[in-house]
Amino acid sequence: MLILVINSGSSSLKYQLREVAADGTEPAEPVVAQGLVERIGVPGSGVDNHAEALEQIDAELEQVLQGRTIDAAGHRVVHGGERFKAPTLVTMEVIRAIERLAPLAPLHNPAAAQGLRAIAEKWPDMPQAVVFDTSFHQSMPEEAWRYALPDALYTENGIRRYGFHGTSHDLVTGIAAETLGIQRAEFNAVILHLGNGASATAIRGGASVDTSMGYTPLAGLVMGTRSGDVDPSIITHLIRNGAYDAEQMDRMLNKESGLLGMTGNADMRQVIDSAHAGHRRSRTALKVASYRLAKYVGGYHVAVGGAQAVVFTAGIGENSAPFRSAVLDRLEPLGIAYDAEANLERSEAARVISTEDSAIPVLVVPTNEEMAIAQLTLTVAQDHGALER
Ligand code: AMP
Repeated sequence: MLILVINSGSSSLKYQLREVAADGTEPAEPVVAQGLVERIGVPGSGVDNHAEALEQIDAELEQVLQGRTIDAAGHRVVHGGERFKAPTLVTMEVIRAIERLAPLAPLHNPAAAQGLRAIAEKWPDMPQAVVFDTSFHQSMPEEAWRYALPDALYTENGIRRYGFHGTSHDLVTGIAAETLGIQRAEFNAVILHLGNGASATAIRGGASVDTSMGYTPLAGLVMGTRSGDVDPSIITHLIRNGAYDAEQMDRMLNKESGLLGMTGNADMRQVIDSAHAGHRRSRTALKVASYRLAKYVGGYHVAVGGAQAVVFTAGIGENSAPFRSAVLDRLEPLGIAYDAEANLERSEAARVISTEDSAIPVLVVPTNEEMAIAQLTLTVAQDHGALER
């Protein structure tokens, strides 16, 4: 079967066409086609909206499809609020519900809804599923998702911790449990998704019980361009004294902070190279980022009642041996010990990099959000009888 995986940004539409069998198995080369339409709605780009972007994609796919039809589409949606606790088959009511959640994700949810509407109009018979970044974290207990703010901010405005990167944390949890031969329902772990955006998730019994991103993806770890946790009074102070307005503050915290703000470079590879070359600001940024991450691991080890694994994934987690060791060196008080050679090895497969006598195994597990979305789309469509098993 052919599943079209769609990731709609406010001005972009990324797609991957994937081959998957009805039983969920994939061929050796599952990606049939992929691409990106950018600058949607930007004057002069020639692409006014998501429907036009879809026409462009359709033309690109025509060559590849050679008469075959796409069986289903799966969309990544950033925010599912409290309503969506699992991947969902799309109806017009679901699209409207995603639009109603726009205040929680003003750039992303309206774009996703446009992508959904465009496909529903172009291919009305094609089943579509939505997979949310937030839904995996809906299992968090209230003590993890509540902020200590006036009650009405939650009850009337929905201000609470939601968490993100759920598709990746979910996938990687399952692979890590399988790699270690532990039943997922009995698996406690700390998952570290370290990409350009980064989050840590506490897994208890295979489910999310806490996560470092919050109401938005800004909270938690030091990221490529996001600050992660800061004292909120810094923000009121800077706005009050006129240094920033709300827009500038938003940009500074999300786009000009993190590794970029501290070093001038958002890319971990360059920060590491520059730290090795002796540049003080890069060395400091690595210390701040690894120290903060290690504190989260310690905290989540408690939150899950004793983790059975620490798992690294995403761009930095999978590829940066130096950053992994900077974090793991700080976890020695937990009895964690890693094998320096295994840490340096590169592989596409899930692997253990801890020593035999480490108190807790440490794993590196490659993530693949597109693959997960395709699989979830297939399952949702089959469960509703929209695709054959
Ligand atoms: P992702 O968002 O998962 O695609 O991760 C992207 C980030 O991974 C980039 O911004 C890089 O900082 C980081 N990255 C990728 N490869 C490496 C590497 N070999 N060493 C360090 N960082 C890497």
